[in-house]
Amino acid sequence: MSELSFYDQGALVGVLTAQPLDRMLDYKAPEGGCMTGAFVEVPLGPRKVLGVVWGPGKGDYDRAKIRSVIRVLDAPPMRDEMRQFLLRVGEYTLTPISAMLRLATRAPGLGDPPSMRKVYRLGVGTPDRDTAARRRVLETLQEYGGLAFTLRELAEMAGVSSSVVKGLVKQGVVREEDSPRDLPYPHLDADFGGVDLAPDQQKAGQQLVARVASGSYGTTLLKGVTGSGKTEVYLEAVAECLRKGRQALVLLPEIALSAEFLNRVQDRFGARPAEWHSGVTMTERRRCWRMVGEGAAQLVVGARSALYLPFRDLGLIVVDEEHDTSYKQEDGVLYSARDMAVMRASICAAQVVLASATPSLESWVNAQSGKYELCELTSRYGAAQMPDMAAIDMRAETLPASRWISDTLRRAVQTRIEAGEQSLIFLNRRGYAPVTICRACGHQIGCDNCDARMVEHRFLKRLVCHQCGETKPMPMVCPSCEVEGKLAPVGPGVERLSEEVAELFPDARVAVLSSDLFGSARALKEQILAIAQGSADIIIGTQLVAKGHNFPLLTLVGVIDADLGLQGSDLRAAERTFQLMRQVAGRAGRTEKKGVALLQTYQPEHPVIRAILSGDEDGFWRAEANERKAVGVPPYGRLAGIVLSSTSVQEAFDLGAEMARNIGPLAQIGAQIYGPAAAPIARIRGRHRVRLLVKAEKGAPLQAALAKWVAQFKIPNTTRLQIDIDPQSFY
Ligand code: ADP
Ligand code: ZN
Repeated sequence: MSELSFYDQGALVGVLTAQPLDRMLDYKAPEGGCMTGAFVEVPLGPRKVLGVVWGPGKGDYDRAKIRSVIRVLDAPPMRDEMRQFLLRVGEYTLTPISAMLRLATRAPGLGDPPSMRKVYRLGVGTPDRDTAARRRVLETLQEYGGLAFTLRELAEMAGVSSSVVKGLVKQGVVREEDSPRDLPYPHLDADFGGVDLAPDQQKAGQQLVARVASGSYGTTLLKGVTGSGKTEVYLEAVAECLRKGRQALVLLPEIALSAEFLNRVQDRFGARPAEWHSGVTMTERRRCWRMVGEGAAQLVVGARSALYLPFRDLGLIVVDEEHDTSYKQEDGVLYSARDMAVMRASICAAQVVLASATPSLESWVNAQSGKYELCELTSRYGAAQMPDMAAIDMRAETLPASRWISDTLRRAVQTRIEAGEQSLIFLNRRGYAPVTICRACGHQIGCDNCDARMVEHRFLKRLVCHQCGETKPMPMVCPSCEVEGKLAPVGPGVERLSEEVAELFPDARVAVLSSDLFGSARALKEQILAIAQGSADIIIGTQLVAKGHNFPLLTLVGVIDADLGLQGSDLRAAERTFQLMRQVAGRAGRTEKKGVALLQTYQPEHPVIRAILSGDEDGFWRAEANERKAVGVPPYGRLAGIVLSSTSVQEAFDLGAEMARNIGPLAQIGAQIYGPAAAPIARIRGRHRVRLLVKAEKGAPLQAALAKWVAQFKIPNTTRLQIDIDPQSFY
């Protein structure tokens, strides 16, 4: 890493841009000079692009042709810590630095001058009429002293409509002003609120607080069943971080989670944190990026890409539901946000808290070996208990065709309806039916671009490919034999299940929660809140509901097909099924009433199903760990997935075969290679896919060897090569 230095006007500086060039370009420092790390605008051909001053220029280019930096942007320079982080993630994931830089500058208009917007603060005088709503607005403003808020913030905090605020503006009681758009976030008070922690929560909280107070790096696995109060505990760590004047980041797997979460932050710290995820508007993104860099955002709640925000002094990263597969980015830069959180924290002397009821096997092993500290909550908070779990043996249930709810499950749901309690019927399949078949010729409707079946979505009135998103209307005649009226759905999706539920329980209020049924994250949030307040008797849901939502009235969880995840040869099939089933079951009985989880299965004696039912988690992890150890796969060995995709199947296979024949650099580190083989999904978006798998011992320098190996081959323009370090899925 280069020294921090200042370059006078005209000095040569090396600038990295987010353009796919992958080398530094020399420029002359502009008038007024610039610092290492400065965000700059530079000319590149006919364009102006964003760049970062990375160090001194190389000077190996005709000096007369070197152009000048256009201007230095009005943003804090990229910190040394951040540049190190980007380089290390790039090295680890074999990603070019330009792509890393793109990840770190994903906010619109970074170079724009600050624009203005309306804000509201306390004026003078008293309102003509004194209403409760008006009083709440004034109290909110008084509580925060001289601070100003946007209309939305103020209305939300006071719990009034914006017209109430506008009414007060007319009378001058509230003042409307123009202010730069990128406002600092409201101050979070570490000691604003908080609950009295139960004894084991207190102990865990103290442990985390001490680690945050140490000001050094460390990772803690915070393990506890759903509802054990992990969130309350890690908010204590956040509080300590705020007290120390450092910034905190909480990563969550799903935006849908944050509605409830933001309320909890507000209760605990008196105001809302900054948000960073795909549901945030462009102006908010810009505000967040800039304020984080200026230290004017104390806490960010976000999705995985929030890791690349330019924190001024990051002291804590919480990764909630750390086992969640959405932390692995599966396109573009392939990285695991959980693992990269640990990397970032180790560079900037921050603490990491990994929270989960069902940790990933990787984290469980790291906690066992002492690499991570383990902090455990063993019971549910208060009176809540883990639900009773039982299997429904579907071999004994003799269901008629196209029926999926067993009589045992039906009776259990009926009892809940009569008691005024909620039931969740869980099926991890979106849409109406996974397969559409022609009864005349047996043809199954597939996607034109992918090696995948089209899934019928009745709600959308279309067939949808879950691989590429392609949709088409349901055809009237079979595309193969052209016979009319013979196309039939096979198998259930949540939409079809809702029909069966409506027949079985005609008077019940039913809600279907599936990610594709909501136009916006906001609509989904509202639906979830309504359900939590009792707007439905039966919830039919995909894995969207497995995560973190609190439904206090929910006492029964019925899993339609507990065997679903056990099919397939995925390395993590057992682990995933175990986690998902325990998570879903954990939705039941979050308050005083004990819950029940019923798992419909055709193989009740399967070891994974038995482990789920018995609740012997450590036994399950130990057995799973031993199996992986025996075959040398993660976390006991290292894997890299190579995907070659091409419009020509021959080209992809030929290149794959050539790569498998010439493994020199890989052989040197003792790595083995498997493949080439057609990928499980052999075609996506018209591109044929061929996979290779590289396996190495745990300590082997895999990335360096891979880089050397790949560099030996000429990749045709029509072929794309993707390397996935620590692959999570093998599609
Ligand atoms: P987890 O994150 O482990 O799933 P939560 O922190 O969400 O658990 O806690 C579950 C429920 O119990 C929440 O509604 C939370 O507000 C409540 N709760 C947890 N700890 C306490 C406490 N010490 N006092 C009051 N309520 C608590
Ligand atoms: Zn497709």
